[in-house]
Amino acid sequence: MKARVKKDTCIGCGACTVIADKVFQIGEDGLAEVINPDEKELEKNGEKIQEITKDNQENVVDASESCPTGAIELTE
Ligand code: SF4
Repeated sequence: MKARVKKDTCIGCGACTVIADKVFQIGEDGLAEVINPDEKELEKNGEKIQEITKDNQENVVDASESCPTGAIELTE
């Protein structure tokens, strides 16, 4: 599973950074982002996308479902 935050949708409420604190943080722009983005994806399209390890998956799904604006995108 991979996760990214859609910056145009995030309102910076911080809920995801509490629910999945090992994956999401509030960036310098005041909006959420993944903490350890894949470098190749970052180079390719400037997107911060993180591969989610098994031990974080439950929290990340929980964070995604709890996000008030649906800003957390999960893909396989
Ligand atoms: S829960 Fe959603 S709106 Fe709130 S900071 Fe996280 S991604 Fe942004």
